[in-house]
Amino acid sequence: MTEPSAASPDDALFLLPSRYEDRTQVTALGALLPGTRAVVEGEVQLSEVVFRRRRALLVRISDGTGFLNLRFFYFSRAQADGLARGTRLRAFGEARRGPLGLEMVHPEYRRVATQDAEPLDDRLTPIYPLKEGETQGRVRAAVDRALRKYAAAGATDLLPTRIVEQLALPTLMDALRFVHRPPVGTSLADLAAGRNPAQRRLAFEELLAHQLSLQLLKRAIQSDPAAALPDDGGLEAKLIHSLPFSLTGAQQRVLKEVDLDLGQPKPMVRLVQGDVGCGKTVVAAAAAARAIGSGGQVAVMAPTELLAEQHFRSMSGWFQKLGITVAMMTGSQTAKAKRSALEATASGDVQLVIGTHALFQEGVAFAKLRLAIIDEQHRFGVQQRMQLKEKGAKDGLVPHQLIMTATPIPRTLAMTAHADLDVSVIDELPPGRTPVRTVVIAEEKRAGVVARIRAACLEGRQAYWVCPLIDESEELEFQAAEETFATLTSALPDVKVGLVHGRMTPKDKDRAMQAFKAGSTQLLVATTVIEVGVDVPNASLMVIENAERMGLAQLHQLRGRVGRGSAESSCVLLYRSPLSAMAKARLATIRDSNDGFEIARRDLELRGPGELLGTRQTGLAELRVADLIRDADLLPQVRETAEQLLRENADCIDPLRRRWVGGAEDYGRVG
Ligand code: ADP
Ligand code: MG
Repeated sequence: MTEPSAASPDDALFLLPSRYEDRTQVTALGALLPGTRAVVEGEVQLSEVVFRRRRALLVRISDGTGFLNLRFFYFSRAQADGLARGTRLRAFGEARRGPLGLEMVHPEYRRVATQDAEPLDDRLTPIYPLKEGETQGRVRAAVDRALRKYAAAGATDLLPTRIVEQLALPTLMDALRFVHRPPVGTSLADLAAGRNPAQRRLAFEELLAHQLSLQLLKRAIQSDPAAALPDDGGLEAKLIHSLPFSLTGAQQRVLKEVDLDLGQPKPMVRLVQGDVGCGKTVVAAAAAARAIGSGGQVAVMAPTELLAEQHFRSMSGWFQKLGITVAMMTGSQTAKAKRSALEATASGDVQLVIGTHALFQEGVAFAKLRLAIIDEQHRFGVQQRMQLKEKGAKDGLVPHQLIMTATPIPRTLAMTAHADLDVSVIDELPPGRTPVRTVVIAEEKRAGVVARIRAACLEGRQAYWVCPLIDESEELEFQAAEETFATLTSALPDVKVGLVHGRMTPKDKDRAMQAFKAGSTQLLVATTVIEVGVDVPNASLMVIENAERMGLAQLHQLRGRVGRGSAESSCVLLYRSPLSAMAKARLATIRDSNDGFEIARRDLELRGPGELLGTRQTGLAELRVADLIRDADLLPQVRETAEQLLRENADCIDPLRRRWVGGAEDYGRVG
């Protein structure tokens, strides 16, 4: 959303290093570990041009404790001559295992005299995230200028002194000086883990700025009144009674919280969080019934057309029985269908409108929008939620907002990441679900998996075969799915195979989904378009290719597509050997747990903070220093300080937000 730039000294100071290198000491060659970046020194023993697949200059250095090969694929004659036997070198690079022992490929190096060893750096080297056209050198120079300027002028600590004192962390200026230029002896591991007090000081301030922004955003959304929704005719109760099941305790509890909000003349802004399959849609439908029963309109927004179609179908099923008209609004509708949906929405003839982001667009007018339901919140931005506020504002009344997400972050974190929302958690699955049995199988045993799928399909079961993104290209993802579709179709002549991917027209996509739902196809080859929300209870098998390349959260989401009916479900994770130790541990995590929160926790342990979905961002923007999980212990104090500032020091809020969140969010200013 907002990108830091190095335009002013202040900006340069707050453009923080993403990692560090230690060039403050020379590592003995005998102690050098593969995978580390280090400064080494040694004397050239051997220098030769070799031809193994590629021409390369190979220079072997030794320091008496061990040896190392420096390998250059690009080199000039003069360079080769300058690296003759007996020359003493200092080099910096990443050591890794090569065909002839440890090596560094294209290290930085220079010749050094044996006697007067040249001085080493006295600071760790910061590595900055670069934008196009920037170099580390230029960014470092800009930071140096800024550090000098502020050293003279005194730091602009925006936090009131008494709060800084309570924190027992370094002052702002000390923290900045430290993170930009960590002195010799600073632990690289501590820095990488974000445990250094200087980093904590900045993380605190950043979290505080986000917290303030989010709270102000909530205030802004709630600054106008909403309609209280009494549902005098009891439509909500009717809907609930018409369902073929009864609500779980968790669904009832969350619905009670939602109903309480909807009864107030103040806009609800509530996030309903719950693991895949916990039944968020029904809760949303019940809330919709309350709004419609109170004479209002409801909009349901889904992140994809596939999901919008699906919501349309299930909601139509529930609501039409009650005499409620449901319409669909997506970007790919025919002009005619769209016009009639628009008209019915504007006139109020339709009470429930389901669609994609097309619902937000200009020209969409609601007669009486009272409730907006947003499914899978992480794909909708704050901006769009503000737009939504405008949509309802015709009669001066703001619609209530109900946001649903399966992103598994613990409650305390959710309250910080989404400080602009009230949070409810559905922490129970509907009864009768048998947990999905997950197995991890090598790609080489694919034929056996295909045979198992065939046997299951012939027994009347249904299966997904998922071909996820293996490169960074959507192009390849759909190609992989088409190829797999072709091979499975010919390998399984007695099974009806379907295909769904992101490149198909919405109509074809929907047709493929409907055929699968109706059971006329038994095996559905799909890309990750089915990741979110797709619900076909009879499907009880899933095969996921290239599972080792995927994030655990995404695997968990995908797997959540099975295990929705009462049949025993299985998920096969296919991987390509060899597996790294990390990949092995991650796949074991998915295999051994069906609990989204537990998986997120293990994922965090394995990969460290920062990688986990959602912990490096709040509802507003990416975090630069802080990590919600790593810095979780700061959160209570962050929240407390935010309250205190809002009460007593409102004037420091805007500068803090400008510094850390950027100036893009104009709404929600103080006052
Ligand atoms: P999610 O929370 O992942 O969006 P859904 O709302 O799609 O989950 O619900 C998953 C499935 O569970 C659906 O088929 C839904 O009809 C069913 N379901 C929801 N609530 C219950 C319940 N209380 N008892 C039985 N089945 C339920
Ligand atoms: Mg859902």
